[in-house]
Amino acid sequence: MKSVNVNGKTYSWPTKTTIVICLDGSEPGPKGYIDTAISMGLMPFMKSMISKSTYEIGKCAMPSFTNVNNMSIVTGTTPDVHGICGNFFFDPELGKETLMNDDSFLRASTIFEAFEKAGAKIAVITAKDKLKKLLGKNLKEAICFSSEKADQANLKDNRIENVLELTKKPLPEVYSSDLSEFIFAAAVEIVKKQKLDLIYLSTTDYIQHKCAPGSKMANDFYHMIDGYLQKLYDQGCEICFTADHGMKGKTNEDGSLNLIYLQDELDKKFGKDFCNVICTITDPYVVHHGSFGSFVTIYLEDKNKISEVVKYIKTIKGIDIVLSNDESVKKFNQPKDRIGDIVVTSDENFAIGKKESDHDLTKLKEPLRTHGGMGESDIPIFLSKKIDQSYKSKGVLRNFDIFDLALNYG
Ligand SMILES: [Zn+2]
Repeated sequence: MKSVNVNGKTYSWPTKTTIVICLDGSEPGPKGYIDTAISMGLMPFMKSMISKSTYEIGKCAMPSFTNVNNMSIVTGTTPDVHGICGNFFFDPELGKETLMNDDSFLRASTIFEAFEKAGAKIAVITAKDKLKKLLGKNLKEAICFSSEKADQANLKDNRIENVLELTKKPLPEVYSSDLSEFIFAAAVEIVKKQKLDLIYLSTTDYIQHKCAPGSKMANDFYHMIDGYLQKLYDQGCEICFTADHGMKGKTNEDGSLNLIYLQDELDKKFGKDFCNVICTITDPYVVHHGSFGSFVTIYLEDKNKISEVVKYIKTIKGIDIVLSNDESVKKFNQPKDRIGDIVVTSDENFAIGKKESDHDLTKLKEPLRTHGGMGESDIPIFLSKKIDQSYKSKGVLRNFDIFDLALNYG
């Protein structure tokens, strides 16, 4: 059977249209979004599939951020291989904090690129445009566009046009569940019109940042998704989904926030700007998390002080893991040249910011929910077929196993 090699792995040719979906921020498990919605009778398709599908909880790559994990999923590798380790990083060449949106930062080929070269027909649709460039790197024939800029999609750049007419939907707002719904609506119409081999859909976690599992808004969102999963399944597609990360609330019952302003803490202890804390979750879309995440990196001028700083950070309440550069390469498979001298995560109840004066909390309308640490590293893994049980020998499943499971297991 025809197969494709990429990044040291071999993938079998899809026997039917295989759709892999990254359901951004879908905290899994009995108290997670999907199982809660299923138990409330709001995901009839998922309920009907449980006995005849593969449905597991796995782990994401670290940090539990969106771009990092989308790139892990679509390359089948960890950040030390593909190079994307946050939305932001401190570029040593430029000497400043830099957005990691550009595809020149991606060091591995995507599974789509390899399949396209082998002649596969592919479509990649993302919610936010920030991901489109990374996901679409080196694609020449595949349909590739974001719902955020669906109105601008054209044959030359995106290999598709008139997407609003196709979906019969207006251009969605960037901060809305419509942004994700548009992706599914477009996929249903595209599948009707042409025979594709691989489809990748990547939603946004706007809803998950805003509300907890079981809330009306979350339930409406997953009910909507369930309807589209059913439609795509009925069109004969293999449906597979995972998530880039989970999501945890960082607010106490009295409304107070569990925040660590790490730059302020380190300035107080070691002197102003002795350490430079980089919040790598920072991106141009800050409304839903205010740039608070559960993972930051730190740069030090004086490398002799690293162990002293590590020791101090470990004493701060809410901190979970503190690692040196070498340790984070080993434990979290980080790209050594992009993560600074120290890597810090907070526990599932806390989020980390830079300086109190840097973060605009007025934009946060709901209790803070965010991700980045180990507390948000559980993710769902679903395949609409019961696969050979030999997959269990892989041990803990990772979200970046999803193409392997979808294509290599019958
Ligand atoms: Zn995400």
